Amino acid sequence: MRLDGKVAVVTGGSRGIGRAICIRLASMGAFVYVNYVSRSDAAEEVKKEIEKLGGQAEIIGFDVADGDAVQQAFKEIVKKSESIDILVNNAGITRDGLLARMKESDWDSVLDTNLKGAFFCSKAASRTMMKKKSGRIVNITSVSGFAGNSGQANYSAAKAGLVGFTKATAREYASRNITVNCVAPGYIETEMTDALGDEVQQQIKSEIPLAIFGQAEDIAAAVAYLVSEDGRYVTGQTLHVNGGMYM
Ligand code: NDP
Repeated sequence: MRLDGKVAVVTGGSRGIGRAICIRLASMGAFVYVNYVSRSDAAEEVKKEIEKLGGQAEIIGFDVADGDAVQQAFKEIVKKSESIDILVNNAGITRDGLLARMKESDWDSVLDTNLKGAFFCSKAASRTMMKKKSGRIVNITSVSGFAGNSGQANYSAAKAGLVGFTKATAREYASRNITVNCVAPGYIETEMTDALGDEVQQQIKSEIPLAIFGQAEDIAAAVAYLVSEDGRYVTGQTLHVNGGMYM
């Protein structure tokens, strides 16, 4: 599965799952734009790691929830690289809390980053993909968007919304040979899950048939398949990578 000559943009590529996706796509030959919002140091580390492995990458800072910033960044990318072949909408945040106590700002920031961010980036990237009549978009959703998760009404709504968004855009873009799919991680070891206490982690593991948390590389492998030539006939789907937690 090679991606030589392809240009990929990975939002939230500086850490966790996004970082693993950047490294995986670059190792397959893609030129990767590693997006970050605040941690340029972490994004630089990803770029260095890719270059150490013989790949090519550039870092690009923008807030996916800021429509003007997204437009500007994608213009810059197209100017430099002349194309965008792959977009991975991975940037995501959580602001957990029971609904009764959830602040409107926590609802808005989670919906803005996780869902509206995918809207802005997909719209910007699809312009060049449509001209080229080819492209791949992968949206990183979550098991929470399917099973629901207490304390995550905002996050579950955003992630479920992303699934509907994926299906609608898959239909809209199919005639232009652009596929749009979701990858839905279960519990993956990253800073997001490190924040959970030991007791909560044990409780979660007891509900996973494979009884372990996944690694960021497990998600990167699913994305690699969907954006490769091997995945060309798959669109509007969700690939669940969760140790059997949700079937
Ligand atoms: P991390 O918290 O480890 O990393 C989040 C990444 O998103 C960082 O690179 C961060 O950039 C970036 N980011 C956050 N907000 C923005 C923004 N507004 N604009 C641009 N970039 C932003 O997250 P994970 O790796 O754990 O999660 C990645 C994706 O996978 C998310 O969509 C998450 O919802 C999903 N997911 C994760 C699961 C898990 O178990 N970890 C389970 C299910 C889904 P910076 O470094 O600059 O802060």
